[in-house]
Amino acid sequence: MRSQQFTAEPASQNRVESPSTGADRTPLVFDVIIAGCGPTGAMLAAELRLHGVRVLVVEKETEPASFVRIVGLHVRSLELLAMRGLLGRILPHGRQRPAAGFFAAIAKPAPKDLDSAYAYLLGIPQPVIVGLLEEHAIELGAQVRRGCAVVGIEQDDQGVTVELADGEHLRSRYLVGCDGGRSTVRKLLGVGFPGEPARTETLMGEMEVGAPQEEIAATVNAIRENHHSFWLRPAGNGVYSVVVPAAGVSDRAIPPTLEDFQQQLRNIAGTDFGVHSPRWLSRFGDATRLADRYRVGRVLLAGDAAHIHPPIGGQGLNLGVQDALNLGWKLAAHIRGWAPETLLDTYQAERHPVAEDVLDNTRAQMELLSPEPGPQAVRRLLTELMDFDEVNRHLIEKITAIGIRYDFGAGPDLLGRRLPDVAVKQGNLYGLLHRGRGLLLDRTERLTVGGWSDRVDQLADPTAEVDVPCVLLRPDGHVAWVGDDQQSLDEHLSRWFGEPAH
Ligand SMILES: Cc1cc2nc3c(=O)[nH]c(=O)nc-3n(C[C@H](O)[C@H](O)[C@H](O)COP(=O)(O)OP(=O)(O)OC[C@H]3O[C@@H](n4cnc5c(N)ncnc54)[C@H](O)[C@@H]3O)c2cc1C
Repeated sequence: MRSQQFTAEPASQNRVESPSTGADRTPLVFDVIIAGCGPTGAMLAAELRLHGVRVLVVEKETEPASFVRIVGLHVRSLELLAMRGLLGRILPHGRQRPAAGFFAAIAKPAPKDLDSAYAYLLGIPQPVIVGLLEEHAIELGAQVRRGCAVVGIEQDDQGVTVELADGEHLRSRYLVGCDGGRSTVRKLLGVGFPGEPARTETLMGEMEVGAPQEEIAATVNAIRENHHSFWLRPAGNGVYSVVVPAAGVSDRAIPPTLEDFQQQLRNIAGTDFGVHSPRWLSRFGDATRLADRYRVGRVLLAGDAAHIHPPIGGQGLNLGVQDALNLGWKLAAHIRGWAPETLLDTYQAERHPVAEDVLDNTRAQMELLSPEPGPQAVRRLLTELMDFDEVNRHLIEKITAIGIRYDFGAGPDLLGRRLPDVAVKQGNLYGLLHRGRGLLLDRTERLTVGGWSDRVDQLADPTAEVDVPCVLLRPDGHVAWVGDDQQSLDEHLSRWFGEPAH
């Protein structure tokens, strides 16, 4: 599943000599180099390959991460995976749970009739989802090189020279830093990362437990009434997932030990539940930061490299994968030569506010976890308010990212939103989006994508389950236009997909 030879033919027109700053005039071999093969980098590589873009992913680590952190894939990410035909491959590796109880871990049932065919949470080990995405990217022709850390970058009018830790220099037209919260690419660019440093640290790990299950459940439930940043619950295969505050635990630079977990459990629960045989132990903080730019010339940032926040609500990986879906087709359009001039800048214009909102909701959730009387009172009040279905729905739509509406200007409410996986005569809508192209869904049977047919598919279907005449979808599934008029459609095709081919 790991590295393979690059399969795409290097196109001679893409072979550009490096400038005088690139000492050895290294040939431009790749269209895009991606730093980091986490979920964001792997997803982006696959998206770019859908458009024939020559991609190299360089990953610092020689082996995929070994620790098994279970992450939750939320509704919008599940939709995007379905849109690319990947969900069937991923589902058997995860556990489905109701789309509920995400906001500040306030226990409430899922809101009624959540508008999605994928209205659940999929719990899945992070290394599994990363491995599947990497495998998918490689199958599509991306090259992944492990054990290569990006240590230097220089850019000019034609491309970027990337220096690796072993001294090798590579050239590409664009570089995307998907290299995580401590992103080297972001630092080399000098992009500011304002926000708040970590205030609290948490220990998280998986281990076996000696105490009987009934005793654990009773004690844990009683403690969680007052300590919301504590849990001890089965993670499968006889192993328990344990989360305890790290307050008072040695130096944060030193990896936590089993003894640290035992001590913290005794402090909080009066017993260490006989924990033993740890599988992995980690420590994380609640730092909250957002890059002030997502793009500097030919270098872009995505995923944790662009935004970090506490894991409450389980949104980080989802946000990164969704960044990748937003960026992939736009970057590919620039490389293929049909992108409208400002298309790449819409990446930051659309995704920066989304990340801002996620940071804000995690700030709010962290406050609600505080054991102080004030935040606890607010928590009780919000718990009451969430009995109103609209409130519950608003919060769930926020966390699951199905409530996002990009600002595409004035227009009907549907404009800028994602379209659910509605029924169409050929089956389901998302089944038509596997190739990462635009789509005109035309109930009038009168309109055509004409000269854009090399980038945009069309389906004339008067039975399609949408309550507007026609919808133009971008490759990321967001509604770029709603209407029934050919001239207006052509203007919007130009706006998003550039000049027609003929
Ligand atoms: C306890 C915990 C629980 C979480 N639970 C959830 C959850 O339920 N749902 C959710 O959505 N998110 C969750 N997250 C967040 C999620 O893990 C991250 O947001 C996600 O891993 C970010 O993906 P990424 O690809 O952007 O970055 P990363 O996963 O950090 O990947 C970056 C990659 O870049 C590589 N790299 C770094 N530097 C370089 C370099 N110089 N050159 C080349 N490669 C480099 C790294 O080795 C790494 O492989 C959780 C996080 C924590 C800590």
